[in-house]
Amino acid sequence: MLAIVCPPSVLAFTAGSAPMPGLCRRCGTPPAMQLDGPPAMQPPEGTMSARAARIALPVAAVGVTSVTAAGLFSTFAGSGAPAMDSGEEAEARNRLAVVDPRAEATMARYYPGALGSQTIDRLVADTLGRKGYSPGNTILATSTCSDEVNYKSKEMIDLMATRWGENFALGGLAGVPFVGKAGFGAYSHHTPDGGKMLILFAPHVGVGYDGVVGKIQRVSQAEVSTACGAAVGAFKALMAEKAELQAKGIVMGTPPESQINDYFSAQISFIKLKLRTKLEKVMSAPDAQTFVAYQMYTLTREALAESLFGALPGFFDFGGEVAVVGGIQVNRADGGDRFMPLMFQTLTKGGVTTDLYAETFGPPPDLTKALGGTIPQAELFDFRLAQK
Ligand SMILES: [Zn+2]
Repeated sequence: MLAIVCPPSVLAFTAGSAPMPGLCRRCGTPPAMQLDGPPAMQPPEGTMSARAARIALPVAAVGVTSVTAAGLFSTFAGSGAPAMDSGEEAEARNRLAVVDPRAEATMARYYPGALGSQTIDRLVADTLGRKGYSPGNTILATSTCSDEVNYKSKEMIDLMATRWGENFALGGLAGVPFVGKAGFGAYSHHTPDGGKMLILFAPHVGVGYDGVVGKIQRVSQAEVSTACGAAVGAFKALMAEKAELQAKGIVMGTPPESQINDYFSAQISFIKLKLRTKLEKVMSAPDAQTFVAYQMYTLTREALAESLFGALPGFFDFGGEVAVVGGIQVNRADGGDRFMPLMFQTLTKGGVTTDLYAETFGPPPDLTKALGGTIPQAELFDFRLAQK
């Protein structure tokens, strides 16, 4: 019995590149055998939560498609990925045909509440539409890693840029907004007169077809590579440095920021400098790469707040309000990316902060199982976009 139905893209690639032409590089079987295998996804048991039901169905559709919604969503229980307009439903069904249960189990444990790209794009737009945001009066900016895996067609950045019209790129390696205060100032000064700003920030992490966190199978590459390469690379370098110092009986401290002295490695040096202060409990976490991904989120959030508030007062010269969506972009080899929302707030020129998370995504998911208490729930969800 085969558990995996590899997608056509993998099979096609295999024909030209693998040692055994015609065989899938993942499971070693020919396409015909795979097609005879069982469904790729075993629908988890459980009923649709209130959160899932609310997201799954636009109010107007309740009562008309609820049976379909419940049936479709039951297969996503745990990963929290309902999608009920026609495009999202098609996306979900396609996904079910190619994902591996091991990857879905990883998602359910470490990234509960993660949603598909189309769903995130729609939910954010619906909420902001009710608040007066429109493509005509809003300018989008995104702070995501330079890695091309984040810019695939029909995934979140592409969808949002298409919806909102333009996209000011704030990010550098790992999604940290390396444009800094000057970049935030420049972005804000491109806002339509009297309009609004929308910022999405997200570090990213890969979840391989086999459920391994921090890995991704890229198109046309036989080898599995890391994602996020910058975050994983910084983490590995820091752990190696710590082990080396420990062998000499030295406790690793925090170097002065002046250590960033190589202008041509400035971004990775910054990431290492900041991440090293957040790794104390990594060995106690259920999954080290997941711990790093969530810490990269807090690191990126801090950098964003420093840059945004550092760009005041000119930041609101043209627009009176900014909306900020934060989370973790989960890159998947098969079935489309997922996004784990962790923050959605607006801030006005007058300093009024409004939390839109629950209104948009429902109550925050419990991450106790994902992080084993190494990062408190409050540290991830109680952040408020306000000047210190
Ligand atoms: Zn990256």
